[in-house]
Amino acid sequence: MAETDVLILGAGLAGISAALHARSPYRLVEKSDRVGGLCKTDVREGFRFDATGHWLHLRDPDIRRLAEEVLPGGWLTVQRKAGIWSHRRFTRYPYQVNTHGLPPEVVAENVLGFIEAQFGEGGRALREREPRDFAEFILRHLGEGFARNFMFPYNAKMWTVHPREMNTEWMGRFVPHPTVQQVVRGALGLEGDQAGYNATFIYPREGGIESFPRALAGRLPRPAECGVCPIAIDPSRKTARLSTGEEVRWRHIVATIALPELAHLCAGAPAAVLEAAGQLRATTVTYVNVAARDLGSAPLHWAYLPEERYAAYRVGSASAAVPSLAPAGCRSFYVEFSAAGPLDAATVEHQAVDTLLDLGLVRARGDVLFAEAHAIPHAYVIYDDRYGPAKREIASWLESRDILIAGRYGRWEYSSMEDALLAGRECARRAG
Ligand SMILES: Cc1cc2nc3c(=O)[nH]c(=O)nc-3n(C[C@H](O)[C@H](O)[C@H](O)COP(=O)(O)OP(=O)(O)OC[C@H]3O[C@@H](n4cnc5c(N)ncnc54)[C@H](O)[C@@H]3O)c2cc1C
Repeated sequence: MAETDVLILGAGLAGISAALHARSPYRLVEKSDRVGGLCKTDVREGFRFDATGHWLHLRDPDIRRLAEEVLPGGWLTVQRKAGIWSHRRFTRYPYQVNTHGLPPEVVAENVLGFIEAQFGEGGRALREREPRDFAEFILRHLGEGFARNFMFPYNAKMWTVHPREMNTEWMGRFVPHPTVQQVVRGALGLEGDQAGYNATFIYPREGGIESFPRALAGRLPRPAECGVCPIAIDPSRKTARLSTGEEVRWRHIVATIALPELAHLCAGAPAAVLEAAGQLRATTVTYVNVAARDLGSAPLHWAYLPEERYAAYRVGSASAAVPSLAPAGCRSFYVEFSAAGPLDAATVEHQAVDTLLDLGLVRARGDVLFAEAHAIPHAYVIYDDRYGPAKREIASWLESRDILIAGRYGRWEYSSMEDALLAGRECARRAG
């Protein structure tokens, strides 16, 4: 039987990072035909499409150094240009601090609702206790106007459940938390667009986002084994059977594959663990890559669509941010839809083009070169009531068997590319 100290499952950023930081011999197995996971870039007719927008924000100095070292072509730094499309106009992102330009009654509702929530009698009850769910968090920190005009409809569309069904565990840096000065200045058009965690981002100068995981994987002392996945894991014997037929003995597993799938792969998983795995939910994102002739429309990198009349929750244009992602004279777009499961490709392709036409990002149907739907099966994990207890049940049992979890789907969380790199590094250190 083959032996390894660390068996790493999945070669997205988390798995690659675990391998790069491993302190003892490892094997890295990847089900698909190439490394990168969600950070793959598809090339079609001169266009390069990531899986929707994949913009990198780095906070950790070591990860930043690593990123600078590995990429031969270097990085571009891009100033975010993001917006919200509502009431048939674009306003700047984040909505909360950029209401200038909306109809005056909408601005008034947003600002007065915010003031009431912060200082008024109507907001007192929520101010005096911790919010019980995401809806209460929104009402407590932003007020009824922002809730009605943006936060409730947008989040319900993106997460597929109403904010009242979600907890507040996931938000951290992701939900901007404005001051009264920012809200008032934003209503008067005096705020810049620097708010939020993602005001600037970096992106590979060449090759799309995939060039980053590829470059990292190119540094590995032992390459990833692609087209290979575990068929069964036996935590009591500390062995795994691979799709190649090989049996491998391990000391630690670092798993970056989806947590519910991992639980089901483990022989002898207790009923409570399997039951918990069944309780974890996620949205499926179907995104449509659209290639079009460029009419010189607003160079928006992405825009949020809170209104119900659009089935999509967000549109973006990667080539607006990085022109080399589309051939000269052309523009690439992605249009994102969220649902409990897969959507019909032809329907969303049609809706995607209609949406771009309606927003004026594409001039005429004849300017569209192609539109192609793709799905991310569990794109956003849903932080509902059952999330915390179910995840703890599974994670603590796995840990007790020396199976460590890393990455967005291994940890079953809402997190970024950098978080995946950090989680991989942390698990490699823990595995020793
Ligand atoms: C729509 C969307 C937009 C995003 N935009 C951004 C952004 O702009 N900026 C940002 O920082 N982050 C963004 N993210 C998050 C980012 O994509 C992830 O945090 C990161 O790529 C996760 O890496 P990972 O290695 O944890 O998981 P993954 O990339 O999912 O890698 C897991 C790997 O495991 C493999 N695998 C699965 N099952 C098995 C199995 N049974 N056996 C072996 N291998 C298996 C998969 O093929 C995959 O290669 C976005 C995510 C989504 C869904």
